[in-house]
Amino acid sequence: MIPYKILLNEHEMPKQWYNIQADLPNPLKPALNPQTHKPLTPDDLSAIFPMPLIMQEVSTERWIDIPEEILEIQKLWRPSSVHRAYNLEKVLGTPARIYYKNEGVSPAGSHKPNTAVAQAYYNKVSGIKRLATETGAGQWGSALSLACSSFGIECTVYMVKVSYHQKPYRRSLMEAWGANVIPSPSDQTNSGRAVLESNPESMGSLGLAISEAVEDAANREDTNYSLGSVLNHVLLHQTIIGLESKAQMEKVNEYPDVIIASCGGGSNFGGLAFPFLYDKIHGKDIQIIAVEPSACPTLTRGPCTYDYGDTAKLTPLVMMYTLGHDFEPPGIHAGGLRYHGESPLVSQLVKDKLVEARSVGQLGVFEAALTFTRSEGILPAPEAAHAIRTAIDIAQECKESGEEKTILFNLSGHGHFDLSAYDDYLAGKLDDYEYPEDAITRSLENLPKIDL
Ligand SMILES: *Cc1c(COP(=O)(O)O)cnc(C)c1O
Repeated sequence: MIPYKILLNEHEMPKQWYNIQADLPNPLKPALNPQTHKPLTPDDLSAIFPMPLIMQEVSTERWIDIPEEILEIQKLWRPSSVHRAYNLEKVLGTPARIYYKNEGVSPAGSHKPNTAVAQAYYNKVSGIKRLATETGAGQWGSALSLACSSFGIECTVYMVKVSYHQKPYRRSLMEAWGANVIPSPSDQTNSGRAVLESNPESMGSLGLAISEAVEDAANREDTNYSLGSVLNHVLLHQTIIGLESKAQMEKVNEYPDVIIASCGGGSNFGGLAFPFLYDKIHGKDIQIIAVEPSACPTLTRGPCTYDYGDTAKLTPLVMMYTLGHDFEPPGIHAGGLRYHGESPLVSQLVKDKLVEARSVGQLGVFEAALTFTRSEGILPAPEAAHAIRTAIDIAQECKESGEEKTILFNLSGHGHFDLSAYDDYLAGKLDDYEYPEDAITRSLENLPKIDL
């Protein structure tokens, strides 16, 4: 019998990351300098990123060695287990076999430390003393705070003001790891002060918090910027998820027919899916699904075009699916899935039809989350529950058709800091929300005009 938990030993941890840029059928379009609109050079990035990460960002080498110092820290929780969801299968009465990779076991509670530790390491060896970043729901800020404390560097986190007040315990966690947490908009940066002047009551947005952190890093010699998703090097570091999962599935002679992960900026999705996409690009028949909220439908309703990564237009222009850089997502509870853009790598793969995108509503997501909690025991992060919703949908289709599909999804994090969202759901206070078409059209009117 296949065990409930498929485990790897520490010596079986992957020693290299997989870089999908080596295998893309159509290469990425270059990122552009936000002022000149000319292709970005490594120099453009060196004010805020260390050179090893800039080189990884543009590398087309298929395999990139993972430094031993990174693996040593990640052994605190890695390799993470793959679970066979026997109890969920039983509740659903499905002939499908459901597996999930549990990334909620890291100290910060999500997959995000996989890249945070790598980024802190490369900054440390490049002589950087302090990192600035933003956080929405607090997952990324926690991950980077943990990573910085592991390597003895300072960490400043601009936290979207609405979350700063709604999620005080995420802030406590960051402070426990020694980080300095500032509500955004703040009076510490030009971008923040400009917003406060026009709207003192502003509750902030992820795009604005990014502007503040980038400005902070650009203005200080000892400080770099760090981003938790979207960028190529972030998705590269996350491929440890899929590489481990592949080895774990092999151990029990299984190979997934369907791979599912939630998609905000694309990092947990890319992390799980890219090592399997290698096989798909080389002819294997697998269905690979990225799931997003219907309230922030970047991949399913946005165009794929050049756009800025932030509100103040400080970041490079990248080719991606986007809802427009000044899109303001509604306050749904999956805070990690509220970004207006999407990873260029995931965007290219969706455009090339190697990846399928779906959107799901909030109520169905929480219903699936509780079905999972009441069968498998783990309370998932609302973000992760988007993948659970889709896995359950496919398992139910299998029940009707009698197909015995093998499904693998990413449990990207636990929901212990999201209990107020569960409270609201259980009290019947949540709604489904479809982003209105005219609001999307309006925000797309401000897309930069680039001659392609
Ligand atoms: C941040 C986060 C996400 C979304 O970010 P991606 O970069 O798309 O993975 C998903 N799940 C959890 C638990 C997160 O913390």
